[in-house]
Amino acid sequence: MRPFTPQDFAVRRRRAAAQARTAGMAGILVAPGPDLAYFTGYTPTAVTERLTMLVIPAEGDPVVVVPLLERGDLVQATGGELESSAWNDGDDEYATAARLLAADGRYAVSDATWAMHVLGLQRTLTDATFVAFTDSLPMLRAVKDAEEISRLAAAGAAADAAYADVLGLTFSGRRERDVADDLGQLLRAHGHEHVDFTLVCAGENGADPHHEAGGRIITDGDMVVLDFGGLMWGYGSDTSRTVHVGDDFTGQEREVHDVVRAAQQAGVEAVRPGATCQDVDRAARAVITDAGYAEQFIHRTGHGIGTTTHEPPYMVEGEERLIEPGMCFSVEPGIYLPGQFGVRIEDIVVAFPPGSPDSALRLNTSPREVQVVA
Ligand code: ZN
Ligand code: ZN
Ligand code: ZN
Repeated sequence: MRPFTPQDFAVRRRRAAAQARTAGMAGILVAPGPDLAYFTGYTPTAVTERLTMLVIPAEGDPVVVVPLLERGDLVQATGGELESSAWNDGDDEYATAARLLAADGRYAVSDATWAMHVLGLQRTLTDATFVAFTDSLPMLRAVKDAEEISRLAAAGAAADAAYADVLGLTFSGRRERDVADDLGQLLRAHGHEHVDFTLVCAGENGADPHHEAGGRIITDGDMVVLDFGGLMWGYGSDTSRTVHVGDDFTGQEREVHDVVRAAQQAGVEAVRPGATCQDVDRAARAVITDAGYAEQFIHRTGHGIGTTTHEPPYMVEGEERLIEPGMCFSVEPGIYLPGQFGVRIEDIVVAFPPGSPDSALRLNTSPREVQVVA
């Protein structure tokens, strides 16, 4: 994988400035974390109470407000390509930042900016307005370029390889958390530098979409929802499959799995030129509703993925934005039967890539048929 270059980051910052201008905003304020990594390649070793903030004005050059003691790290990480404005302990860091901002400007801020920093800026610039990225510029990181897509594809392939290995593990008689630990190790073994989540939800726990793997002993006859992902080359994986322990299925287990699989397929096929995000949700949901399980599908159909494992765009009713080439997101319908079991099937897809300009390409290709484990 070729590393991102200072040029790549500069292109992203220029695109962000253009989006801010179009939205009538004075600029965007970027906090440490996935947003700062995306726009600069700089990841402070520890995100602390000290203010670090990239200011991308709608017009003019970006500047990083940085604690004096961390300026060296910033310069090293960015090759000195970015202007910085350092503040020292004892200074008013918000006054330092405010000098770079328009007194009555409207600014988009990273969703994950610490509240104390937004409040500090608000106190200093009483006529300025601060709004979250997701509310103001949700598509800031939504469209991925070829280099980003190749990272997401590598992360997806690694997650699929981990799943293939998981199918060879013994489930019966072990605790959910033991299988979850194995899954995390397998993701790392296949190249992930970071594991975000490894959900292992056996039997009735499968009816809780975000069940945390725990002490429940997995037994013969259980349906088990697996949902796992993390970061590789700085980009996310996120996939779900539902397996069955032993081959003695109930009719309902088979039926529900078939419905979810058909719904997932319909969601992927809804990614057509001219389709909106909510069309993906509607297509998947229609299959589940027709089968009589409308009340048991209790979440949106998908979310974007990039330098985080959950981000805009969201595949949800009411999201009327068009799906654009290069958007990467999950398609993950599920059915949850309280007290019994759940089924979820999830792939990451990329919309209209060069090889398939009219459809979605799946970045997860593990078998979607229900697999039997021991
Ligand atoms: Zn069963
Ligand atoms: Zn997932
Ligand atoms: Zn997901």
